[in-house]
Parts: sequence; C-alpha cells; structure tokens
Amino acid sequence: MPDTALVVMARYPQVGTTKTRLARTIGVEEAVRLYRAFLTDLAHKFAGQSCDLHWAYIPAEVDYLSFIATLAPSLIEHMHAFPQQGIDLGARLHHVFRWTHDRGYQSTIVISSDSPQISPKIVAQAQKALNKADIVLGPADDGGYYSIAMRRPYDVFRDIPMSTSIVAQKTIELAKSLGLRVHTLENLFDIDELPDLVRLAQLLEADSSLAPETATYLATIKEHQQVGVSRAGASPAPTIRRSSLQSPYIVGAGLAPALSPAPALPRSIYIEPTSRCNELCQQCPRTLLSREDDRDLSFDNFCFIVDQFPILERVVLHGLGEPLLNKELPRMIRYLKARGTYVLFNSNGILLNAKRGQELIDAGLDEYRLSMDGATRETYAQVRGVDAFDKIWRNVRAFIAMQQEQQVGARFIAPKPAVSLWFTAMKENLHELPGLIDLAYEHGIREIHLQRLVYFEQGLAHSKQALFRRSTREELELVRRCEESCKRLGIAFSAAGSATPVESLIRDFGDRPWSGCQRPYTLTYITSSGNVLSCCFAPFGHKSAREYQEERVLGNVFQESIDAIWRGDRYEAFRRDFESDHPARHCSKCGINWSY
Ligand code: SF4
Ligand code: SF4
Repeated sequence: MPDTALVVMARYPQVGTTKTRLARTIGVEEAVRLYRAFLTDLAHKFAGQSCDLHWAYIPAEVDYLSFIATLAPSLIEHMHAFPQQGIDLGARLHHVFRWTHDRGYQSTIVISSDSPQISPKIVAQAQKALNKADIVLGPADDGGYYSIAMRRPYDVFRDIPMSTSIVAQKTIELAKSLGLRVHTLENLFDIDELPDLVRLAQLLEADSSLAPETATYLATIKEHQQVGVSRAGASPAPTIRRSSLQSPYIVGAGLAPALSPAPALPRSIYIEPTSRCNELCQQCPRTLLSREDDRDLSFDNFCFIVDQFPILERVVLHGLGEPLLNKELPRMIRYLKARGTYVLFNSNGILLNAKRGQELIDAGLDEYRLSMDGATRETYAQVRGVDAFDKIWRNVRAFIAMQQEQQVGARFIAPKPAVSLWFTAMKENLHELPGLIDLAYEHGIREIHLQRLVYFEQGLAHSKQALFRRSTREELELVRRCEESCKRLGIAFSAAGSATPVESLIRDFGDRPWSGCQRPYTLTYITSSGNVLSCCFAPFGHKSAREYQEERVLGNVFQESIDAIWRGDRYEAFRRDFESDHPARHCSKCGINWSY
C-alpha cells in the first residue's frame, strides 16, 4: 500500500446543493454537470498513481464509491471513499487527517474538488515538501487553500473562519504558533463564481490536458449556447443584473454568451393545487395569518400554468392547503408524468384512503411526504389542531401494504411513490422524535426529514419554540441520538440544505446569511389563485393582506404570462434587493432565524 493518502473533499452532485454560487448564473443542472466533469478529471488524474486515492464525501448517506465508479469505471479498484464527519469544514478536514492517520498512512494530502486543474506535479511537490515541513499548504487566490498536506493530524483548523479571505493566512499563523514548519505551494484558483469559470475556460483552451473532461464540457456549452443564440433570433436578451456578470473576465474569454444569460424560466416549481385545508396547524400561516381565498385549482388552469414552462424537471404539488382535497390531483400528476417531470407533495394523510392511494400510485407520483409533528395522539392534536393521529397511521399502514402487495416480484425497484415523514421540530414536540422514528420504522417508512420552524410570533410559530441556533445541549444530544438510531434502523434522516439534522440546527450562514439561497433564480411558487411568490417561505410573517399583496406577490399568472412575470420589474426588483444588504423582509430572516 502506498504510504501517502490523497484525499479529495467532494460532495455528491445534486441539483440545488452543488456549486451553488455558480449555479445562480449557469443554472443548477449545468452546475451539476460541471462538477461531475471536475470529479471525472480528478479521478482519472489521481487514481492508481503514487498515492492511494480516497474520496471524503458528503452527504454521508450516499453510496459514493458506486457513484464515482460511474464516472471512471475502469479505475474503481484504485479508489476508496469515506464520509466526511464534523459540524463545519474545519472539523471535517481534521477528521480526514485523523481517519487516514488511524489507518496507517505516513502522510496525507487533501485537495479540493473545486480546482480540477490541480496537477499530479503539484501533488508530487506537496509529497516531497512533507519531508521537511509539517504542513504544506496550497493557497487559493481567494484567500482559502486548494490543498493542505500533513504527516500527522495537527489541528490547524480550530477557530479558523472558513469560507473567508483569510483562511490560508490564519491557518499559517496558527500552525506557526504551534511550532509547526509550513511550506507553501504555488497559488491556484477555485471555481466558485462565473469569473473563475471563465478563467478556467481560458486556461483549458490553452492546455486541455489539465482537465480534459471539464474542457470538453466547457466547449460543449459554449457551442450549445451559440446554437441557442441563433435559434433565439429576435427574442430579447434577458436582463438579470448580477455583479458577477459584469466581470471583465467574461468579455475577454468570449464566454459571455455561453455563461451569462439571465435566468431562463425555472425548471423546478411549486404549484398549490388547493388553498383549502382540513387541519388547523398551530404553526401554519394558513391558520394564523390573513390568506388568499380558499379555492381549488382547476385542471384546465393547472395545464394553462405548467404549459408555459418549456422544461419542468421537478414540480412540488403543494403550498398552503392539503393537496388531497383537490380531486383533480391524480390527473395533474399524470399530466406532469407524461412530460417526464419528477412529482412530489407534502400531505397530512387524513384523506389517504385506499381509493386515493391507488390513484396516486397509478398516476406515477414519485414522492409522498407525510407531515407528522408528533408521536402521540395528544401532541399531534395540540400541534395540528385536529384529532386525526390514529386515522392517519391506519391510512399509512394500509397504503404501504398496498404498495408492497402490488410490487411483489419487483424486488429491485424502489417503491413508488417513496414515502417519507416530515417532522417540524419545535421545543414543544422534539421529545417525541425518538417515538416517531419507531413509528415510522414499524410502518415501513425509511426516510425522515427534520423540518425547520419558520416563525412569526404567533401560535406555535414562535421564537421560543425554535431550535435553530437555540437548541440546548440536551436537545442537540437527543437529535444526535436520533441520527444514530436512524442509522441503525436503515432510515435516512435528513434536514434542510443537505446538512445532517444536528448540523441543520447549528449552522452558521455567515455574513448576509440569506445570500446562499438560489431560489430567486431557480424556482418559483404559484398559489391556487395564480399569485407568483419567490418561494414557499413567502406566505409567512406578513402583517396584513395588503402587505402580503404588495410585498410578497410578484405577479399573477392569470393576468400575465409567467415569462413576463419572471423577467418583469417586480421579480427584478426582488432579485436586486436580494443581492443588496437589504433583501425582502422574508428573505432577511433566512439563515438567521431558520435554515433554508
Ligand atoms: S400546515 Fe399544512 S396541513 Fe397544516 S394547516 Fe397548514 S396547510 Fe393545513
Ligand atoms: S425567503 Fe428565504 S428561501 Fe425564500 S427566496 Fe428568500 S432567502 Fe430564499
């Protein structure tokens, strides 16, 4: 076995969590494709060379080795993978060094997956430098580092403000204060923003061997865009205003047409099939605040809306209201499935009887998310305002049994719809989470999601109920134990923003906390009255119907086309504010009062 481990800090490429800053300008799907190209290049460059190649990945629940094998099938026997562990990047890096050290490696070189141009020569230089230095750092132009190498797992990560422009400098200072010898490599750059990508494109145009897959990808999108531009003919140039698009790099690289288009219509949307509901949840704005009129969206109106989106990859069929109350729901699902769209919704399960359950299965629904905020009849009734706990679990048991019965013989196909349980965690009900895990397991549910509480100081939607950055040590310990029991039971336990449940409660979103959100550029939310909102957080916290209308509603699809709304003045003003230090009021609480 080689005595050096080369570890790539990587994530599983998923829409919405991959290269998030870049995704705002090139789109979430392109960001995923680009990142896959990065990973492919790194695999081909470093697997089977002088170091053992390991992928340290997030999120922990994916089978990363199987995934990476799809990118470089012939190299699978030369690659290893283990999940990152720790509540922040510093802790995760420290864990990597301890992990490799515990397995007998004499030295470890960690590299970022954000710089596909890292060459074997640089890795060899790091390896050699470790003969004399305790720490070898590869500084990135943004003040971070693309590589760090050590022979022992020194903790040079503690209290370093990660994701800032002083990371490398602070790390060097800390290492020196610990008496460690530091060697620095040549500077490289990470690919985080559009100008970085343009710079990479220039570099790869000169020498594609640095990252051939990425070079091919960039050449392809440039070519596609040229085709797209000529086809678009007279259509007006989109007008998104983002500071990154004004970068001088863009013009120089000739990639402006390829990489700077304003947001195309979103491929992921929320549509509210009905605003009616059969519950009175005590944390829900529908119960506690002024709201739109109760109405069901007709099938014709539904088609009128979705037909305006040329591409729909994912549709969430819920808003405020219980989707199963709209009898046209299965037809809507079927309509979307005929387009190849991924369809899901949250539901309280009260109406999930055999007939409706069968209709959902037949329509091809992909995901059914059961909202369940307690493990006892009493707590459920207290939080959800109705005494329906026993009925819901009877429905769920029968639904899952029906699915299993119908899928006998299809052992290798995951059941559809996938059923998951969504728990809004509050001080009031957190103690019931362990019981809920048992209930879920008993009923055949294999996924639980810890949802954040969005509060506005009414009912249970109150700051004193919030756990985000307000959890006690005991509460965090309880969630951590729940993570363990889910793991033992084979239940995927997830939370907002691809964080683990514990991380989701303690995350620090840094300066301008809302700004990591991509929804203003990638998603839209349409109510059953046709109002267009920025996201599903927009119906929370307004003081009056007028304020809701003036502040949250960005247009109405029954008055204007979605294209005109998406590119219109109100959406543009909303995005401009979002980019400033004074975003819309609902955005300004994101990342501070709750995670997103
Ligand atoms: S949270 Fe959902 S189920 Fe509960 S009242 Fe609101 S819309 Fe209805
Ligand atoms: S309210 Fe929050 S989730 Fe919605 S667009 Fe604003 S920052 Fe994003």
